[in-house]
Amino acid sequence: MPQIQRILVTGGAGFLGSYLCEQLVDQGHDVICVENFFTSQKSNLVGLLGRPNFELIRHDVTQPIWLEVDEIYNLACPAAPGHYQYNPIKTIKTSVMGAINVLGMAKRCDAKVLQASTSEVYGDPEVHPQPESYRGSVNPIGPRACYDEGKRAAETLFMDYHRMNGVNIRIVRIFNTYGPRMHPFDGRVVSNFIRQALLGEEITIFGDGSQTRSFCYRDDLVDGIIRTMNSEDDFTGPVNLGNPDEFTIGELAQLVVELTCSKSQVVYRDLPADDPTRRRPDISLAKKQLGWQPRIPLREGLQRTIDWFRSINMADFRPPTPNF
Ligand code: NAD
Ligand code: UDP
Repeated sequence: MPQIQRILVTGGAGFLGSYLCEQLVDQGHDVICVENFFTSQKSNLVGLLGRPNFELIRHDVTQPIWLEVDEIYNLACPAAPGHYQYNPIKTIKTSVMGAINVLGMAKRCDAKVLQASTSEVYGDPEVHPQPESYRGSVNPIGPRACYDEGKRAAETLFMDYHRMNGVNIRIVRIFNTYGPRMHPFDGRVVSNFIRQALLGEEITIFGDGSQTRSFCYRDDLVDGIIRTMNSEDDFTGPVNLGNPDEFTIGELAQLVVELTCSKSQVVYRDLPADDPTRRRPDISLAKKQLGWQPRIPLREGLQRTIDWFRSINMADFRPPTPNF
């Protein structure tokens, strides 16, 4: 049993955050979830509300907050392109001001702080697969920039607080992750394809479906995040976390149709601007430093995710709230 810590999880009601909170609460830690419910809902926390070592605070991370904690997982940020492009100015504020606020708290409390960064810092990569040493190819003025550049600036802030103030930091670069509690209307490819297949709607492939992604199951990913937080004190990262098995979007569509036994037809739509052509993590560092690698293959993870989609009422999930 690890020593009980007071742990803050920002964005703790989201797809990854809610599962992370569950793992930490189950380990006996005192967990505080800070959330503004932009892309999530309280139903993600039903297993946690009422637990004596879990606390929910409705709060926006662009504003300072005064808490006493030992560890911080900074996950607050819309992650799906449709969500982060909904209000791009708010997205970059969330990344940058959210980072400044958690780093200030970590400095004051002498807490360890982990940043949920992203493979998007590599942009549309010219190096394949992507190692942490690759500096990326990001369009700073395109429609994805509010997210990509916000996350890049947050990494800069983390490194500078570490170098200037000795803050104990961790940076994880998360590659495409999927699983139960994905928002069914977030527009991400896995949630779109499963929802469309289950409802008998057309399955929308953007472009010709030859672009690739590497999909990591939620439970593997959250295990990697917790291992990174608990790694040796001189290990700051950044470290890639993701599944190195690479698939084309066309292959993903076929697999979803097969697993759902759907009669849906595949249709082709325009590829969005700046859509990365290929993406696959080099996870050598995570293997060496954390003893971590994903265990759940895509077929199995998709089946679990489909089972969850079948169990929910999709009408209970709303699109992002206006005026954020
Ligand atoms: P998500 O949208 O489900 O979770 C983000 C959570 O942050 C939501 O609950 C949202 O309401 C909350 N939030 C957003 N803005 C906020 C604000 N200003 N103040 C307080 N709360 C706010 O997305 P997710 O997939 O769970 O992603 C979690 C983190 O992991 C994000 O930082 C994301 O960038 C990162 N990440 C995820 C993936 C992935 O494939 N899921 C990939 C790379 C990086
Ligand atoms: N995509 C698609 N159909 C959809 C949604 C997404 O073909 O209905 C494509 C999208 O263009 C991209 C890939 O799937 O090439 C992954 O998209 P997602 O939004 O899930 O994540 P990201 O682009 O951020 O990796």
